Amino acid sequence: MSLDVAAIRADFPILARTVRSGNPLVYLDSGATAQRPIQVLDAERAYSLTSNAAAHRGTHLLGEEATDALEGARARVAAFIGAEPGEIVFTKSATEGANLLAYAISNAATGGPSGGPAAGTAAAALAVGPGDEIVVTELEHHANLIPWQQLCQRTGATLRWFGVTQDGRLDLSDLDTLINDRTKIVAVTQQSNVTGAMPPVARIAEVAHARGAIVVADGAQSVPHHPVDVRTSGADALFFSAHKMLGPTGIGVLWARADLLAALPPFITGGSMIEVVRMEGSTFLPPPERFEAGVPPVAQAVGLAAACDYLDAIGMAEIAEHERMLTARALEALSEIPGVRVVGPLTTQDRGGAISFTVDQVHPHDVGQVLDELGIAVRTGHHCVWPLHRSLGVQATTRASFYLYNTPGEVDALADGIRTAQKFFGAL
Ligand code: PLP
Repeated sequence: MSLDVAAIRADFPILARTVRSGNPLVYLDSGATAQRPIQVLDAERAYSLTSNAAAHRGTHLLGEEATDALEGARARVAAFIGAEPGEIVFTKSATEGANLLAYAISNAATGGPSGGPAAGTAAAALAVGPGDEIVVTELEHHANLIPWQQLCQRTGATLRWFGVTQDGRLDLSDLDTLINDRTKIVAVTQQSNVTGAMPPVARIAEVAHARGAIVVADGAQSVPHHPVDVRTSGADALFFSAHKMLGPTGIGVLWARADLLAALPPFITGGSMIEVVRMEGSTFLPPPERFEAGVPPVAQAVGLAAACDYLDAIGMAEIAEHERMLTARALEALSEIPGVRVVGPLTTQDRGGAISFTVDQVHPHDVGQVLDELGIAVRTGHHCVWPLHRSLGVQATTRASFYLYNTPGEVDALADGIRTAQKFFGAL
């Protein structure tokens, strides 16, 4: 069933505003951050107006309500991705989720009494060091690249990576050799924020698991846009951000298999994550609390849970289909403009709704500026995926990204806007 986009847009007052010289806003930058519906804002406000308190700390009624709100949100997010509540760690963002894992793994590598892995422990099995390899890909956002680069630098492990094909998909021709018996971790995106490509994570995971490696998936661009079920994804861990899925900023999620979380030492330490504290040393709570030091972001968790409700009420499969329709229309419209090159797959097969492109003789920043004058918000630059741009031979691109509230008319406005930019810069 197709989406009732007019009804959806009514839930997002920001989409009714005008920008620059009175043009209606055409928001094509949801890949960077999505807009929030009234239902999400109301949920955060209602919690803040009636129950605001430090979860897991107060003995008073408000503290109890805050704890219930936080744990209710955890269960809601778990259900959204087919996980168990105890496997959901609230983080600050997708970026923090990746860093949490990478630092917990390096803490596993140095957690023993002599600064090495504590032999025979579950943590030791996850530790990496010289001789071990971590495999990433050239499609990765810096958030799923630099934490692993840094982990290698801290531990002496070696970073290896999959390249990309000219149409911006993963080049898996060396899948069976790049992932080998030395591989401990494979970190791969479920959907590229530049080319929209959706790598076959389950297939990669099959190879990785056969070699004893764990798979960390970046869900920042997949969880908001497609049905994601961690039980069938192949991944052992997955991270994503609330603000890209109609939720608030300042909260993200790290999901990991319960046994993996149980084996890992903490990353950030402090209040709310301890069992017993003595001056000589401390012991820590089981997951997820072990990884959630400090007063948790309860209002944000409530907002994220409301975003899950909103998305599920519309249907993730229906949202994915709507975006597929918009993407097909955009790919066709852009293919008809001479001088425009889409950096990414030209069909909607295994592809999401982020479309990056170049325009001959017009710098992406200039394209973005003309579009902005017309009221069309897009992103320009390397989109935090610099190695991919280098590999594809472009310095920067312009990116349009779609969500459930975008319309075919907005796709047409994008195409018209690109033509206007070409005329303005004499590139036609
Ligand atoms: N991964 C991908 C694919 C992204 O697109 C982004 C953000 O653009 C991130 C990770 C990082 O998300 P955040 O900045 O919310 O931590």
